[in-house]
Amino acid sequence: SCGDSIVTLSFQHSRDRIQLASRYLPGGVSSNFRLGISPTPLVFDHAEGPYLHDADGNRLIDYYLGMGPMILGHKPQAVVEAVQAQLGKGILFGGQSEVEFEAAELLCGMLPSAERVRFSSSGSEAVQAALRLARAITGRGTIVKFEGHYHGWLDNVLWSVAPAPDRMGGEAAPVPQSGTAGQDDLAGQRVEVLSWNRLDLVEERLARGDVAALIMEPAMCNTGAIFPAAGYLEGVRQACSKVGTVLIFDEVITGFRVSAGGVQQRLGVTPDLTIFGKAVASGFPVAGLVGKAALMDEFAAGRKVMHGGTYNSQSIAMAATVATLKALKAPGSYEKLEQRGARLMEGVRSALAAAGATATVTGFPQIFHVGFGLKAAPRNYRDIIATDRAGYVRLTTALLERGVRVLERGAWFISTEHDDAVIDETIASLKGALASL
Ligand code: PLP
Repeated sequence: SCGDSIVTLSFQHSRDRIQLASRYLPGGVSSNFRLGISPTPLVFDHAEGPYLHDADGNRLIDYYLGMGPMILGHKPQAVVEAVQAQLGKGILFGGQSEVEFEAAELLCGMLPSAERVRFSSSGSEAVQAALRLARAITGRGTIVKFEGHYHGWLDNVLWSVAPAPDRMGGEAAPVPQSGTAGQDDLAGQRVEVLSWNRLDLVEERLARGDVAALIMEPAMCNTGAIFPAAGYLEGVRQACSKVGTVLIFDEVITGFRVSAGGVQQRLGVTPDLTIFGKAVASGFPVAGLVGKAALMDEFAAGRKVMHGGTYNSQSIAMAATVATLKALKAPGSYEKLEQRGARLMEGVRSALAAAGATATVTGFPQIFHVGFGLKAAPRNYRDIIATDRAGYVRLTTALLERGVRVLERGAWFISTEHDDAVIDETIASLKGALASL
């Protein structure tokens, strides 16, 4: 076909370097999410705007965006300058700084649930602080989470993140599945798993009055990009308030991405605590926890709930946070993301349709999901199982060979730097990739 007459890219140098690096790094990588990528885990040299430049000298249009953080594109000038200026003043003080206070004030002005903030270096850690705070406040032990929702890699939350279909049990009573060899079984005894987007199941479980916290991605973005059903979040909010269960929204992906105030602002439901990360600091290791003063102040007074971290609010990371949030708050940022994301989403949808592919395209313009092989929009994890994973990996591999990098799990992240020309080039590559299958 005419869309497929190009010479495809080679990734041989990345392949060779990963092989050599395996002598020092297990599998040649530093996170399990970077293993098993087709045709090889990639090695990068530099990145700018919408582009990655790899060890083979390929220029790739990037929709990974560091798994979400690079919302202003790679190497955003304002962030680089703020970080360079802060570097001139020092790095880690083992104490407070004005740049930290500025970041905290900005953040509290953006997320509706934020009256106070505690910073950490990763989303995984911030989740742990939230669960501890909820248990301390309620005096209860049980945590409820949902199938297909990811809250970090630690033992107590790595349950039923990607459960095997043959051992899941029924939708009304899922059997929790551990996520890794070596996981502490006991850490799962206080965690219960429910199917998401079923208000009746939440109401029924919470009514027993023994649940400390309910944690969820308010729009499910780690598996699919799935909206809550109409009334679901409102109903969950009400059920939690009724019995004193702490409602935690994990907005590590959606926070500062789908709107200045995340899903909670976009859909108008305010949780008690919110986890944020990723897009808050343009790739610097910043995450944290926000919530009502009455809850959050328990870290410092009252029960003095323990939360530490050598690198919490490190000054360089705080400078990156301030610069990122200011850029995002500037008039037009979210309109630009929304318009460009919509153009991309529509382009992807029509290219798939034109190629006769069975697929759904769901989610927000700023983070959407291609459900390859799905006939209807997914409602929760169980609907995602029918995805043609092998087929989609063939497509993402063909796309990569045409200079476009997207996640194999179906998610597409966009930045403010993906302009119309970049998006149109992407759609042309997608058409070629589809034609090559
Ligand atoms: N929660 C959600 C919704 C996430 O997507 C992630 C990471 O992908 C995490 C928590 C964990 O964050 P981190 O990788 O910074 O530990």
